[in-house]
Amino acid sequence: MQDVSDGNAPAIARTLVRGVDWPAIPGPRASLLLAMQFQFTQSQWWQPEVLRQQQVRQAANLLAHAVRSVPFYGEHFRTSGYDDADGVSPESWAQVPLLQREHIQHFGDALRSRQLPPDHGRVFDYATSGSTGSPIRFSKTEIAELFWRAFTLRDHLWHQRDLGGKLAVIRTTVNEAEGAGWGPATNEVFDTGSCATLNIRTDIAAQAEWLRKQNPDYLLSHPSNILALAKRCLETGIRVPHLRQVRTFGETLMPGLREACLEAWGATLTDVYSAEEVGYIALQCPAHEHYHVQAESLLVEVLDGAGRPCSSGEIGRVVLTTLHNFAMPLIRYQIGDYAEVGDPCPCGRGLPVLRRIMGRQRNMLTLPDGRQHWPSFPAEGWLPIAPVRQFQLVQRDLASIEARFVADRPVTADEKQQLAAMLHEYLRYPFRIDFVQLDEIERKPNSKFEDFISEVSR
Ligand SMILES: [Zn+2]
Repeated sequence: MQDVSDGNAPAIARTLVRGVDWPAIPGPRASLLLAMQFQFTQSQWWQPEVLRQQQVRQAANLLAHAVRSVPFYGEHFRTSGYDDADGVSPESWAQVPLLQREHIQHFGDALRSRQLPPDHGRVFDYATSGSTGSPIRFSKTEIAELFWRAFTLRDHLWHQRDLGGKLAVIRTTVNEAEGAGWGPATNEVFDTGSCATLNIRTDIAAQAEWLRKQNPDYLLSHPSNILALAKRCLETGIRVPHLRQVRTFGETLMPGLREACLEAWGATLTDVYSAEEVGYIALQCPAHEHYHVQAESLLVEVLDGAGRPCSSGEIGRVVLTTLHNFAMPLIRYQIGDYAEVGDPCPCGRGLPVLRRIMGRQRNMLTLPDGRQHWPSFPAEGWLPIAPVRQFQLVQRDLASIEARFVADRPVTADEKQQLAAMLHEYLRYPFRIDFVQLDEIERKPNSKFEDFISEVSR
């Protein structure tokens, strides 16, 4: 646990025993999360070779499980000529074949384990379109969820947040509400302040007004939404005096965003790099603006065009292995993002450094009356209607949207009608939708993927 400076109340765990407040005697779930923090506070300082050794040891367990119980991998390894007879070592790891996003789209069910060890808990099913507009379905165990919670807590502790403060959240999965507690990861261990939520499809002017009223200590949302909100507050003179830190996720940080948060609210910004199907990939260093890979749960490789590891300063494809999700092991999974490898961090942590991440970039949607909001059109909307493998929306003008997509077969008129109805609902306006089926949707030259392009508001 870190020392708490800058006047915040110290983070003291919740106690289970009445009358014993400090040091707390935490309950079983809190003890589990704190036991993981204890290990993280050791492993974050390990040398990269030590980390890598433990990762490969864990990856060998995962591989053995995958070959034994996941139909896809037996076949995948055989057809790519990979021989797993000798097990894996740091040297032989590069021979393990890559998993593409298209593999998950085509062989989804064959990627699920037929023999999950019972102590990995329940399995949860989700869908995501990730940072490249390519929808997939995936499954996670309770153990994978436990890592998600543990890293949420690590992020709070790294950035020394005042857990008694008020949190405001603007994202897709919530509606306008106010309640106690920051969420399960934090509440299980600490007494936290209140949390106010607002759906991200709320127009920016209304969001700014809500933010002024809430006056939170912390604000969590997507980067492009934060930028629009900061601009709105600056233009209209809306002040949010309590706001001290903005937290962002789910998109590439655009240049000038940190400065805009300082100018609008006097708030710093911390970013995380995460993806629903793999969890937290990297958290911002407590002392710098770059990111530390969460090496305790993910083996992250950044590979050049020839499949070799990139050196510091080079940009390559992000390849991930989820070390603990035995329900649907993702082994050397090419997620579709690019990243720049950084130098070892002066903070002394041995967790690998990513200097920049080139993932999703998104513009704001503009309604005909001029109101703007962050466009949400998730995988759950597309997948039940048509076999769409990738999509990208372009707002051509105030009344029409071009919906570009890649699909395994021609999409029927009836399916297009259903897709249009789905988009009307998600985008909150009956735009004219022009469908364009393509063989491939290109990335921008800077390696970012734009899943919503606006020719109106950029
Ligand atoms: Zn660092």
